[in-house]
Amino acid sequence: MCLALAEAHKAARGGDVPVGAVLLAPDGTTVLATGHNEREATGDPTAHAEVLAIRRAAARLGEWRLADCTLVVTLEPCTMCAGALVQSRVDRVVYGARDDKAGAAGSLWDVVRDRRLNHRPEVVEGVLAEECARLLTDFFRAR
Ligand SMILES: [Zn+2]
Repeated sequence: MCLALAEAHKAARGGDVPVGAVLLAPDGTTVLATGHNEREATGDPTAHAEVLAIRRAAARLGEWRLADCTLVVTLEPCTMCAGALVQSRVDRVVYGARDDKAGAAGSLWDVVRDRRLNHRPEVVEGVLAEECARLLTDFFRAR
């Protein structure tokens, strides 16, 4: 999560909402890919931290299935990212702050654990939640 927080700081420096993500290999320690929000930087509405990390990890592995991998992200994934996580078959999603306005991993929706879907990653929430949330609060307060 510390690495994901460092990624989130990079997003803020580029004027993007500070959210960072890290994709870990099946061993749980090797970093396959990282990502941070780049919507403002790239003008791409889908350039969320999670999507970028998923794309980079898949490119690195040469495989769209990220089986047994773990995605760590500072903010609860939105519906788009939750969908991408299910599609990529990651095993586990770890997030920091909850997103009561748009979260899709337990807050507003629970896309990743929807029983109607074949693949349901394990979810661990609240890791360094205060630090992750403070980064966002400070960013929006400064605007
Ligand atoms: Zn998202």
